[in-house]
Amino acid sequence: YGMSSPTSEDSANVKVVVRVRKFLKRETDRNAKCLVEMDANGKQTTLKAPLEGDPAYPKTSKGKVYEDRSFNFDHSYWSHNEEDPHFASQEAVYKSFAEEFLDHNFDGYHTCIFAYGQTGSGKSYTMMGTAEQPGLIPRTCEELFFRIENEPSPNTNYHVHVSYFEVYNEHVRDLLVPRSSPDLFLKIRDSKSDGVFVQGLTETAIKSYADVERLLREGDTNRTTAQTKMNDTSSRSHAVFTIQLKQITHSLLSDETVERTARMRLVDLAGSERAKSTEATGARLKEGGQINKSLSTLGRVIAALAEAGQKMGRRTKERVPYRDSVLTWLLKDSLGGNSKTAMVACIAPSDYEETLSTLRYADQAK
Ligand code: ADP
Repeated sequence: YGMSSPTSEDSANVKVVVRVRKFLKRETDRNAKCLVEMDANGKQTTLKAPLEGDPAYPKTSKGKVYEDRSFNFDHSYWSHNEEDPHFASQEAVYKSFAEEFLDHNFDGYHTCIFAYGQTGSGKSYTMMGTAEQPGLIPRTCEELFFRIENEPSPNTNYHVHVSYFEVYNEHVRDLLVPRSSPDLFLKIRDSKSDGVFVQGLTETAIKSYADVERLLREGDTNRTTAQTKMNDTSSRSHAVFTIQLKQITHSLLSDETVERTARMRLVDLAGSERAKSTEATGARLKEGGQINKSLSTLGRVIAALAEAGQKMGRRTKERVPYRDSVLTWLLKDSLGGNSKTAMVACIAPSDYEETLSTLRYADQAK
């Protein structure tokens, strides 16, 4: 077996985009105002200061000065109002960067897509979506099998494996096995030959898109949810869905077999809201700290990678703080180098403080 060695360097390997979700009933019911504006070319996002008396104006922050804040990103997706000419549907979001990521996977490189944002901002809608409006994960899987079935490369065998795990309080739990009591956490190993991996993680061979759909349903019922005052199904864990694509090509001409393995990681991050805003105490507060720790490490890792991309050729690997959190440590092999990474910062249309904190996070990651 020969291994093909990726060599191309691309300066645009990190993308940071913003997506505002539409209003929910609870917001229109209280007559909430839209505080988010996006410019016509989809690059700039502006957060407007709420007027006093607006429900988006947090009571606890009286006396603080609110001002309009503008940020530039690789793209700003508007899904607030379907009549708007800039409305970004699930399909449009997929087409605009995830499709290109899949091309990259077929070329033998890794990709990572993260959804970041407070609980209720549209992370799981973006990643998983609904039955009528599927998100990035089902669309990527569907397109993957479409290409394998309809556009295979000559003399190539395809092997697809899927795993689904969550990182909860810096522990790893397999989402493809039913929850056990007490909780079963998996060990992380770091080996010279295989890199960092989760020991004993279920990796299911997948033959068709229908197999994936079944797995996703299983995985989601196994996900951690805990009651908080903010949202009773808010997810407190990072869910990492991984598709591994192995392509084994036998060249008749040279009688050589080349194997290429690419991983796509699709990550629904834990809610970014600060522990205090959910009035958390005790164990829940500690959980908040752990969540913030992995989110802040991830932000620093992505920023370091974006910076490395801008200064092409300069090696900054040593300074990328992968090891500071379990999540980034596990994803190390899928980040950096020739991999492509996208961060989708999800925001609600009428929440000044949380949106500002998300936009700042996304801004420092790019
Ligand atoms: P999170 O995963 O960040 O907690 P969800 O994805 O569950 O948030 O989104 C909260 C609610 O908003 C859900 O009912 C979801 O269907 C809806 N929603 C989120 N984003 C969009 C969007 N872009 N367009 C339409 N509805 C959305």
